Amino acid sequence: MEHYPVIIIGGGPAGLFCAAEAAGAGQHVILLEKMPSCGKKLLVTGSGQCNLTHDGDISDFFTRYGDHGTFLRPSLRDFSNHDLVRWFTDRDLPLSPDESGKIFPVSRRSSDVLSVLLEVCRDTGVTIRCNEAVREIRMSDKGFLIHSEKAEYESEALLIATGGASYPATGSTGDGFSLACSLGHQVTPIAPALVPIRVRAYPFSDLSGISFDGLAFSLYRDGKKIRDAKGDLLFTHTGLSGPGMLHLSRYILPGDILKISFLPGMRHEVLKSDLVGRIAASGTKQVKSILSGYSFPARFIARLLDLIGIPPDLTGAHLPKKDRDEIVRLILAFPFEILSAGGWNEAMVTRGGVSLEEVNSKTMESLLIPSLYFIGEVLDIDGDTGGYNLQAAFSTAMAAAKSLSSR
Ligand SMILES: Cc1cc2nc3c(=O)[nH]c(=O)nc-3n(C[C@H](O)[C@H](O)[C@H](O)COP(=O)(O)OP(=O)(O)OC[C@H]3O[C@@H](n4cnc5c(N)ncnc54)[C@H](O)[C@@H]3O)c2cc1C
Repeated sequence: MEHYPVIIIGGGPAGLFCAAEAAGAGQHVILLEKMPSCGKKLLVTGSGQCNLTHDGDISDFFTRYGDHGTFLRPSLRDFSNHDLVRWFTDRDLPLSPDESGKIFPVSRRSSDVLSVLLEVCRDTGVTIRCNEAVREIRMSDKGFLIHSEKAEYESEALLIATGGASYPATGSTGDGFSLACSLGHQVTPIAPALVPIRVRAYPFSDLSGISFDGLAFSLYRDGKKIRDAKGDLLFTHTGLSGPGMLHLSRYILPGDILKISFLPGMRHEVLKSDLVGRIAASGTKQVKSILSGYSFPARFIARLLDLIGIPPDLTGAHLPKKDRDEIVRLILAFPFEILSAGGWNEAMVTRGGVSLEEVNSKTMESLLIPSLYFIGEVLDIDGDTGGYNLQAAFSTAMAAAKSLSSR
């Protein structure tokens, strides 16, 4: 049996960052990672470019984690987006925001982020053991007995940084939830989050890749509106995606009706009279070129007309009133019936996890078992897209590292 003061299970961003910080403060740390190498999920973040965090004031982050932003306030304030940028910049990896405020490494390579984390771990003397899946944890007189596939360890402090259950091929298979349960912690029900949506009789498969900025979404359940949202939309081969849809996916259930306005803010009557005016002014023009005045992609207009049954060469003057009204209806409230939300292989994050009620929000230490910590996505935290999930992983990791160092 090997004995270590601090053992971290999981070599994702939370585990690596915590290991680097704790070891940098003088702790003797070993990190056990089940995959052949660390940070496999980190490498796929931001399509390989790694959207590390978001620009702006850290208080803007608090509303980005559904109902769980309150738990994160102390750790986000203590290690903010600006601190994170400084941390990487000080280690020769400059970061910069794009026009929407998402912060990436200037190199746009997630592998550079992973390299910095691994280098700092190496320089601070962290022992990293890969291919070491932890299977069981038990309590001992000295702290924790940890059984991996290969060995048995004992530690005084234990950090569970095993991530969620999405993209299981990266190693995040939800092990931390069962380990937490085995230690008496509550785990709230888990589900895939930030997922694309599949809809019944999806009419836009061949328009895959077309995106729209700042659309308005209204979600209906059992005939009642349950949520309004705004955001960007992407048509995929199989359904709806893009940041706005991924955020809304948190609240969507099969059978819901999603209505999308492709001219957000425009009222029904206003669009109707505007369209009537345009047709009156240019009735000899084809309907599709009249509609192009609203700056829609040509293929989208063609599909709308096709769905309504309007011939592609029909002129405005010949457009029946009922078809004109149908154009207005579809532009302002295109209805999609939700078939399903994407599964674990498509989800960017996991909804649910180790219950926040049993974890100290300042230190990430268990309120049930001293010297046991939970950091990163294993916690019941899921953020919006835009760098909020990685920031939560780093901030919770820093909180735990500081707590370890002050023991
Ligand atoms: C496609 C995709 C794109 C994303 N893009 C972004 C983005 O651009 N910005 C952003 O903020 N977030 C993004 N995310 C979310 C982000 O990647 C996660 O929130 C983040 O990686 C969580 O970090 P973590 O360290 O808590 O867990 P993980 O990164 O999941 O790491 C957990 C580690 O624990 C290991 N492990 C699991 N079980 C065991 C065990 N039993 N024993 C030992 N080791 C174990 C795993 O192998 C893994 O290496 C993205 C996610 C996906 C899937």
